[in-house]
Amino acid sequence: MAENTTIASNFIQNAIEEDQKNGKYTEGIHTRFPPEPNGYLHIGHAKSICLNFGLAEYNRGLCNLRFDDTNPTKEDTEYVDSIQEDIHWLGFSWQNRMFYASDYFDKLYEYACELIKKGLAYVDDLSADEIRAYRGTLTEPGKESPYRNRSVEENLDLFARMKAGEFADGEKVLRAKIDMASPNMVLRDTVIYRIAHAHHHRTGDAWCIYPMYDFAHPLSDAIEGITHSVCTLEFEEHRPFYDWLLESLGFDANTRPRQIEFARLNLTNTVTSKRKLRQLVEEHFVSGWDDPRMPTISGLRRRGYTPASLRKFCEEIGVAKADSLVDVSMLEHCVRDDLNENADRVMAVLRPLKVVITNYPEDKEEYLLADNNPMHGGSRFVPFSREIYIEQEDFMEEPPKKYFRLKPGGEVRLKHAYIIKCEEVIKDENGKVVELHCTADLDSKTGGATAGRKIKGTIHWVAAKTALPAEVRLYDYLIESDENGNVPADFLEALNKNSLETIENAWIEPSVKLTAVGTHYQFLRTGYFVVDPDTTPDKLVFNRVVGLRDSWAKVKKG
Ligand code: ATP
Ligand code: MG
Repeated sequence: MAENTTIASNFIQNAIEEDQKNGKYTEGIHTRFPPEPNGYLHIGHAKSICLNFGLAEYNRGLCNLRFDDTNPTKEDTEYVDSIQEDIHWLGFSWQNRMFYASDYFDKLYEYACELIKKGLAYVDDLSADEIRAYRGTLTEPGKESPYRNRSVEENLDLFARMKAGEFADGEKVLRAKIDMASPNMVLRDTVIYRIAHAHHHRTGDAWCIYPMYDFAHPLSDAIEGITHSVCTLEFEEHRPFYDWLLESLGFDANTRPRQIEFARLNLTNTVTSKRKLRQLVEEHFVSGWDDPRMPTISGLRRRGYTPASLRKFCEEIGVAKADSLVDVSMLEHCVRDDLNENADRVMAVLRPLKVVITNYPEDKEEYLLADNNPMHGGSRFVPFSREIYIEQEDFMEEPPKKYFRLKPGGEVRLKHAYIIKCEEVIKDENGKVVELHCTADLDSKTGGATAGRKIKGTIHWVAAKTALPAEVRLYDYLIESDENGNVPADFLEALNKNSLETIENAWIEPSVKLTAVGTHYQFLRTGYFVVDPDTTPDKLVFNRVVGLRDSWAKVKKG
């Protein structure tokens, strides 16, 4: 387990407390979650959401939702909507503080002009390729652009004309004027505005210049009064620029935001990059962003993950400063734990084999009491009649020695019902077993004279007459990891072709009739399931969330 399992002890919380001890941020702690609306949120974002909202909650502060929408060509309102839904579903609220970086375009433009006036920004005519070439490398200093020493007046004029649409995309950029020899590449006059004649999902065609992330992000944080700007490690190199920008524009060091980086979540058998996830959707490797095999929050929700299980997972993995890879079985462990406690247990037969109880009257039907959940109690009635279904794999004609399920001449207990004995095996013309004839010990149900008789095996079943038809979808990992748990760079090469198995003709006990989409069950002996939105009044559709076996708990013990 990671060293820091709760907010209370993580290094970001320590930094916050240190700041407050030093008299900073006396107005309170304020964080933000800043997604770019260019895709659906995934499990990695859940970590960031739990951290940002969690830090605010722990410190009795606030957390904003801010859409970082400075890249007009890739963004869409579909994503804006799904992101809000997902954060609420996880159990967090930004109250009335939902913002867009695009809300600040006017202010950001003014800040850019202020930088120009201070001699700290200039309009550059070099092409993108030239800028890259002039930038130097980690071992060689960069070269100054020939346009670097334009006058303030000329820069202001050119920047205004960039805004007015006089230039084509790529013809000019605005750059910070810092130090082309800095060992930090971001400080080598990073680009802060670019020209893009593109329609923006909120500002329409009002702008044809757009601020770069490095410029928009610190200033959006400062405008909103954010105190701690928590982000992932890849921005560590950008922090000096974050500080330079706010310092240069005169933001007070005791109140202005501070960037703190943490390691992003990487999971075995899982891709957590919006670009790759979009590719899976657009190239139809999955049915959509909410395909139950996707690590998106909407996919995990449809798969049957609960908000509590995802929050628990984020707490368990903790927050660290170094990159690491988390085993996906730990995520599964968290939802299994939750459903073990909270899901009612019912009986469903996935691959049915018909059993006729020959000594049970044809027209008889009785209702047997069955308990729902050992922790929360409750019970229901399960109908029993002459014909039932059991799992095909619960019968073997020539079983190995320690097979305690049904075999010719053998006995097994039907959960919540009778002990039955296999008397006859019926086969089709190909020799395949299609039906069993059994007799029941009619005194062996709960309360009966032989109820306590010792029988090694207990199996689940459903009564044929009253069972409801169900489709059951079983999942495996969408991506196969290598032996170290890593997903290969070309993740499409590692796609698991057998990640979905659909069982069309399963049967489930009738107590679940008219159950709501999203309801969770444990199917005795086969796993945890959730009702899928594809369910109709005629057919229930279930997704298997996880199986019953907990490989993570074993790892932990071992
Ligand atoms: P992706 O790489 O999937 O495109 P991103 O970082 O570009 O992700 P953003 O919308 O910018 O996506 O992310 C919003 C916030 O979520 C950022 O603060 C980002 O650092 C954080 N975040 C994204 N991926 C992860 C992850 N795997 N683990 C933890 N935090 C993450
Ligand atoms: Mg990003």
